[in-house]
Amino acid sequence: SPLSRLVVISNRVAVPKARGVAGAQGGLSGALNSTLKKHGGIWFGWSGEASEQNGSGGDGGNINMQRHDGVTTATIDLTQQEVEEYYNGYANSTLWPLFHYRIDLAEYEREFAKGYERVNERFAESVCPLIEPDDHVWVHDYHLLPLGERLKSRGLNNRMGFFLHTPWPPTRLFVSLPFHERLVDSMLHYDLIGFQTGEWLESFLHYCRKELNANVDEDSGRIELNGRVTHARAYPIGIDYNHVLAQCDTQEARAAGERLLASTRDRTAMIGVDRLDYSKGLPERLDGISRFFDTYPDRVGDLVFIQIAPPSREDVDSYQRIRAELEQKTGQINGARSEVDMVPIRYVNKGHSLADLCGFYRASKIGLVTPLRDGMNLVAKEYVAAQDPADPGVLILSRFAGAAQQLTDAVLVNPHSPDDISHAIRVALDMGLEERKERHAKMLVTVKDDNVQEWTANFTRDLAEVRLD
Ligand code: UDP
Repeated sequence: SPLSRLVVISNRVAVPKARGVAGAQGGLSGALNSTLKKHGGIWFGWSGEASEQNGSGGDGGNINMQRHDGVTTATIDLTQQEVEEYYNGYANSTLWPLFHYRIDLAEYEREFAKGYERVNERFAESVCPLIEPDDHVWVHDYHLLPLGERLKSRGLNNRMGFFLHTPWPPTRLFVSLPFHERLVDSMLHYDLIGFQTGEWLESFLHYCRKELNANVDEDSGRIELNGRVTHARAYPIGIDYNHVLAQCDTQEARAAGERLLASTRDRTAMIGVDRLDYSKGLPERLDGISRFFDTYPDRVGDLVFIQIAPPSREDVDSYQRIRAELEQKTGQINGARSEVDMVPIRYVNKGHSLADLCGFYRASKIGLVTPLRDGMNLVAKEYVAAQDPADPGVLILSRFAGAAQQLTDAVLVNPHSPDDISHAIRVALDMGLEERKERHAKMLVTVKDDNVQEWTANFTRDLAEVRLD
């Protein structure tokens, strides 16, 4: 059958040309452009701008349509209040912490929930006229859980799929959210719901069965409630493998790698690359490194740790707190462990291009990826892709990242345990060439084969084929 046009809807729209220096964009942005080029269609979302007055006179406000590089984008502005309640509020102060198992950080404010519903309604209002009858609609991420229902309530009958880029928490945590039933009920208006791993999928199915009394077939992921049928499946996202390889091959990447190596001299470089987010386990990682220095004092001079941590969601309190905590810990460890000519931790508070990162990955004999929870974690996969297969570095990976379900040949750690991290660093430093090559070769198969093109192809194919009865 001919490809249906695709309408992609996500909080933000990222066009390659408009991106400039890749900052804290998240793993989503690179994934969708090539699919849209192939299918034709539109990518709709928030412009990222906060306008003074509410542009919505019942028509969803002004839409800015643009075409870059074969992809049509349509964006709307939000008001300052909408940004506060929907984006900083419900999305990033309620759902994000809850979905990463941090109900201690989750804020359950009525105004946030209402703003979230209003913005989802505005998205529906704005994008509805752009959707043609045969289009397939693919909605992304926790910002837009109820959007499918909002679109269908406007009479749209299109195939609609949803993909959640974050984890889905265990039922016992999820039920702490006020009106959780209503939220999940709205999700069940999608025809297909994708999760990053079987673990999150299982939690979701468990919730539907236990809390909604839905009819759930665990094997096929078929969910039936009130005569509506939806399918839930796991689609682990991958990287754009060829693009990463091409970036590794640039002059920029080589220069970045050489610069890093020249500065580390005879010490082993160990690298971390994360948005500055509490889900990434950064203070715990520093505790692990500090434990390593305490446990193996004779090896302090062998290692330099480089943490690239671009700031993220700076208007949210919990993000300001995590930043202050990291600055304090870095200063403490460096104060205790530096020599006049040697600083063990380099904490870099800014974003870098993918080419620079590729150069850094390749020059670093250890990649340290220790989120407390992560839907997938693309940095882990990029690190593997960027290694020299003849002399690869070692990936230390949190067992609580979605990526750990696939990269089982990494050195897996419990990121909450400083001893575990410390021990893994020791193992990585001492690992011989043969074992490094063997582990890397196995991980590379997954990274290369389960790439982002496969991911989009699998999801869009299932969206077209999934039986609706
Ligand atoms: N990234 C980047 N520049 C930076 C830091 C990160 O381009 O300075 C990219 C990185 O290459 C990766 C993405 O941001 O593709 C982060 O994705 P991941 O899944 O690891 O985490 P997320 O930020 O989505 O939680």
